[in-house]
Parts: sequence; structure tokens; C-alpha cells
Amino acid sequence: MSSRNVLVINCGSSSIKFALVNEDNDEFLIQGLAERLGSSEAVLNWQLGDEKHVAQLHGADHKAAFERLLPLVQKASHGKLTSIGHRVVHGGAHFTAASALNREVIDVIRSAAVLAPLHNPAGLIGIEAAMTLYPDLTQVAVFDTAFHQTMPAHAYRYAVPEHLYTDHHVRRYGFHGTSHMFVSRRAAAMTGLPVEDSSWLVAHLGNGCSTCAVVNGESLDTSMGLTPLEGLVMGTRSGDVDPSLHNYLSRTLGWDIQRIESVLTKESGLLGLSGLSNDMRTLIEASQKGDERATLAIEVFCYRLAKSLAGMACALPKLDGLIFTGGIGENASLVRSKTLEHMRLFNFKLDEEANLKCTRGVAGNISAENHPRVLVIPTNEERQIAVETLALIDAKA
Ligand code: ADP
Repeated sequence: MSSRNVLVINCGSSSIKFALVNEDNDEFLIQGLAERLGSSEAVLNWQLGDEKHVAQLHGADHKAAFERLLPLVQKASHGKLTSIGHRVVHGGAHFTAASALNREVIDVIRSAAVLAPLHNPAGLIGIEAAMTLYPDLTQVAVFDTAFHQTMPAHAYRYAVPEHLYTDHHVRRYGFHGTSHMFVSRRAAAMTGLPVEDSSWLVAHLGNGCSTCAVVNGESLDTSMGLTPLEGLVMGTRSGDVDPSLHNYLSRTLGWDIQRIESVLTKESGLLGLSGLSNDMRTLIEASQKGDERATLAIEVFCYRLAKSLAGMACALPKLDGLIFTGGIGENASLVRSKTLEHMRLFNFKLDEEANLKCTRGVAGNISAENHPRVLVIPTNEERQIAVETLALIDAKA
């Protein structure tokens, strides 16, 4: 059988990120981003090999952007496209794994939109457009939440009245599942440990950030909850705050719930603390020049991360290693070392040279000899989505 191509699509409310993944090729055949869709500045950027291209889309919506980008994908795949894998943020409690798309599955994704009002509708736009344009191709939804459906009840339940759980789906779901699964499997492969007998702490640190406890290939706990706002300090998200903060802000400032949610989601985190930027690179540079608020933002980020990882350790029977991934985890050696300094009881110690070397896609073990293993592993959510898409197609064959 010749090697197969999967188009992986990740739709945001005004963007489409895409990559054509070949199962036998580490490099993407083509990848790109259509953004500012629905505005006069809509634009498509794509990369084919080392060549970078850009095309103005002049007010294109998602469907028009697909019509522009799909011929590029067709050409790059030499007309051989096996399937399309769609990233869907929230699968609720319904989806424990990737699912082939049909009307029924689309309806369940739509019903989960109440849990992810910004994300699921955007994913559905991509699904509907791709299914209209490719009605005969098997298309698959891969959920950010599915990997965490193995969490036990003591990890996923909130201590609120039971009817809120049974009647209104109030529970912890977790996100970034595709990334946590990818890097924990990669860690097992790198260390020669069997996936089904391995225990990992994972820190996925991008614009969104979450930790996860992965035992024998399954998620047993994770820091995000009902929504991707719970847990760690993130680029613009606060992570955990006292739930009474909402009441306090309402009483003292008269803010309504939308305003409070918007502040906690878009104006908080690294951006809120530093007053400068949500971007860790900018904050590290500013901190090195003596900016005190940038320094504080990094300190809070690292301490809260350490605290979360220490909490996640409750789910592990043993520790085979701690994995850093995501833009910050893969690049910011400072964040890695500061975080581990807060975890003295764990006996972590970094090999400073290895820590500095693991940036820009370089994977490796960065722990000093005779100390618990610490790995830097670049995530690859597109490849994981393609792998799950093909596995589903094979299972159906
Ligand atoms: P997303 O969640 O949007 O996929 P990424 O995984 O790309 O985000 O991570 C973005 C974050 O990674 C930003 O805070 C960025 O500053 C940070 N980052 C990227 N490169 C570096 C670097 N060399 N040093 C420190 N932080 C970095």
C-alpha cells in the first residue's frame, strides 16, 4: 500500500490552520494558515517545502478560504488524499476517542457547543465546508477532550450539587489531549519504556497551558476543567482564581458576568500580570533588562506551574519523567529551570548545558545524571490527529 495523506484542519472563529500529513514523512507536504477571515484583510499564508507564499483573500469566509486552499492541498498530495482530520475542542463526555463524521456526530458536537461556545461552532464551520466540498471522503473529528475521558470520578468531579453534574454536565473535561497523548507516547519511545507501563507528568505550555498525569498511556488527571480557563497561568488567561472573585468584582465594580469572563480570559495571565505582553519571549527579554512586572509574571507562572505539577503527582504510582512541551516548554530554558527550583522535594536537577540546547525543535533529556528524568519533546498535534484519523479508517476497513 502506498503511503497515505491526511489533511488536518484546525478552525478558529476567523482562521483555518491546515497541514497535509504523510504517514511516512516527518515533514508536512504543505501547511498554512488562513486568517482574518470575514474581513477585508483576509489572507492565506502557506509553506510548500522551503517556499513561503501569501495570497490576499479579500473578505473571504471559511468556505471561500477552503475553496482557495483545497486545490493547493490537492496538488501537494498529487490528488491522493485519504482523509481529513478535524480538530474539535470539546467533545463533552460523549467522545472518548476520535469519531468518523456523520450527521449524528455533527449533532453531538453541536450540542457540546454550550460547553465551548467560542470553539465548537468554528470547528463545525470547517467540518460543514469540508464535507460539502469532499462529500465522498471519510472525515474524522479528533477531540481535545477525548484523551482525558479516562480520568477517574475523583479527578473529574467538582464538589458541587450532584444535579449540576447529572443534569447540566458540570464536571472537569480537560483539553490539549492530543498533545498530552502525543508527547507521552513519544517519551515512552525515547526512553524504551512500554507505554502500558509508564508514568509521566506533562506540562504543555503554549498560549494555553495545562499539566497532565499520564499513567500507562491514559490521562488520570489534568489541570484544565469544564473550560480551558481552569488551572495554570496562561498567556492571557488567569487560570485558577477564587470563585468568589466574580461576586466581589460584581459587587465592587458592578461588572456583569460577560465582562468578568472577558477580563479573566483575554486580559489576565502573563499579559495581566506584566501589563506588557502575553508572549513569554518578550517577558524574558524585558525581565533581563530589569522590568519588575515582567519578572513577577514569570515568577508567578513558574510557581503556579510547579504547584500544579506537584499536585498531578498524586495520580502517579511512580515517576518515569517530567515532559515539557508547547512553545514555552520547548524553548524557554529559564522557565524549565525556575519551575523545577520550586519542586525541591522531587529531587529534580537539570544538566544546564542540555537545558540550554533543547530549543527550536531539539528534543532530549535535560536532567543531570542520577536525578529524575526531565524531557523536552516538541509536540505535533497535526501528526497525532493524522495518526488517529488513519487508525479509525483502518479499524473500519
Ligand atoms: P499556541 O498555544 O498558540 O500553539 P505555542 O505553542 O506556539 O502557542 O506557544 C506560544 C508561546 O511560546 C509564546 O508565549 C511564546 O513567547 C513562547 N515561545 C516561543 N519561542 C520561545 C522562546 N524561544 N523562548 C521563550 N518562549 C518562547
